Amino acid sequence: MEQRLPNWLKQRAYLTPNRKAVIFQGKSLTFEELYNEAVLTAKKISSLSIREEDTAAILLSNHMDTFITIHALQQLNVRTVFLNLRLTPPELAWQLKDAGVNLLITETQFMSKKDEIHSILPNLHVKTLEEISSSNPDEVSIRDEFSTQDVCSIMYTSGTTGNPKGVLQSYGNHWWSAIGSSLNLGIRDNDVWGCAVPLFHISGLSILMRGVIYGMTVMLYPQFEPNEMNTHLKQGRLTIISVVSAMLQRMLNDLNEERYHPSFRCMLLGGGPAPLPILQACMDQNIPVFQTYGMTETSSQIVTLAPEDSLRKVGSAGKPLFPCQLKIENSDGGQALPMEAGEIIVKGPNVTSGYLKREDANRTSFTDGWFKTGDIGYLDEEGFLFVLDRRSDLIISGGENIYPAEIESVLLSHPSIADAGVKGMHDPDWGEVPFAFVVIKEAVTEMDIIRFCMDRLAKYKVPKKVHFVSELPRNASNKLLRRELPLLIE
Ligand code: ATP
Ligand code: MG
Repeated sequence: MEQRLPNWLKQRAYLTPNRKAVIFQGKSLTFEELYNEAVLTAKKISSLSIREEDTAAILLSNHMDTFITIHALQQLNVRTVFLNLRLTPPELAWQLKDAGVNLLITETQFMSKKDEIHSILPNLHVKTLEEISSSNPDEVSIRDEFSTQDVCSIMYTSGTTGNPKGVLQSYGNHWWSAIGSSLNLGIRDNDVWGCAVPLFHISGLSILMRGVIYGMTVMLYPQFEPNEMNTHLKQGRLTIISVVSAMLQRMLNDLNEERYHPSFRCMLLGGGPAPLPILQACMDQNIPVFQTYGMTETSSQIVTLAPEDSLRKVGSAGKPLFPCQLKIENSDGGQALPMEAGEIIVKGPNVTSGYLKREDANRTSFTDGWFKTGDIGYLDEEGFLFVLDRRSDLIISGGENIYPAEIESVLLSHPSIADAGVKGMHDPDWGEVPFAFVVIKEAVTEMDIIRFCMDRLAKYKVPKKVHFVSELPRNASNKLLRRELPLLIE
């Protein structure tokens, strides 16, 4: 059902004009200033013949002008495609074409990508921020309301299990995502949410959305620097930050025995499985980690582990946010029993209505308002979710299910291993057996690693072979591409 809400940024500029909306490299804007800047930018973008419900794409790094531009496009009700900066020009061109983009907004540092994209899509309209800034503003009326059903953003999935899919994220999805998060974490007067994750991922965009909906300050970083982040957390300049486990690991390496300021209240850790050694190290150092599970399709978090449960339920992603529901479907299509593994199925007002132009995926992924995540997990007796792995990466060996993430977590706890990936390989006796692919930091033998696993894993889960490689294949979101691991040994 459609609902109309006041234009978020305009309402913020009216309700709390003098509150700080965003800080970037020492410069800040209040909500009133941010609104004025966004309106001016919207008028300039409008002069490029972009109309309501057209589609623009942004290829922009984290900085103040990007923050303003995202809001500007919302003022015009222009759908925004968020492009990942690490994609190659052919990958970018594919997404631009797939989404039917009318205008690409980028910046001078990506000129070479722009030229290559142009050679693939010669008719694409491309403007840099500098060009937009110097164009004459159009007289355009700024919308008073946002409709919950309008598509706000189109964000492609990371493409970890196959080709990326364009997820339609509506204003209503973002609204409910922000509300669901606040019902779990609360909102405090002194909250400042640090954003060192890219704005082009849902983890970053959802921080921008919470900022305007809550009236909260966002501290935006051009990129993640563990030392800078630790310094800010020790100084008490941030109360919440969003991280993925690789970021947290680097922060822990840099932190030594030091402690964060007591006003720091939430390290929101998501994006992928959280290796247990990291969670343990955070517990030892009193770091308030909130494990969370979510995806592009759920417009950020959908399940989060509340702080009062974090010690008792280490390794769990928690329970659904208040407006969301969760169940586990077993292989017969029925509801799984507690502790029984199956596909994680979710429902909620933050869940996308579907993928752009993907009839097949839409048919197979959505049933009666429930979305099949493609992830495997189980609920314990108390209803806490434990995410095991991707359905497509499950290894079935002699009838036993093996989750590569569990083995990778053990391998990563080995002091000589820097990175690890596990993949099921064909075996004439067992159907499939796990093979490990490791990047090492210091000399270690295959036998040492296998013995280490023997001590920690059931025999059928112990890798049958360990391949030493220099690097693991990762996608533009830095996620491990297990399907490409066998190519390393061909
Ligand atoms: P694609 O859908 O194209 O294969 P992707 O699923 O990696 O790509 P994202 O939407 O960026 O794209 O990532 C969401 C996925 O990340 C989840 O479906 C899940 O597999 C994984 N993930 C997120 N949070 C967690 C978590 N707490 N524990 C384990 N896995 C997680
Ligand atoms: Mg996915």
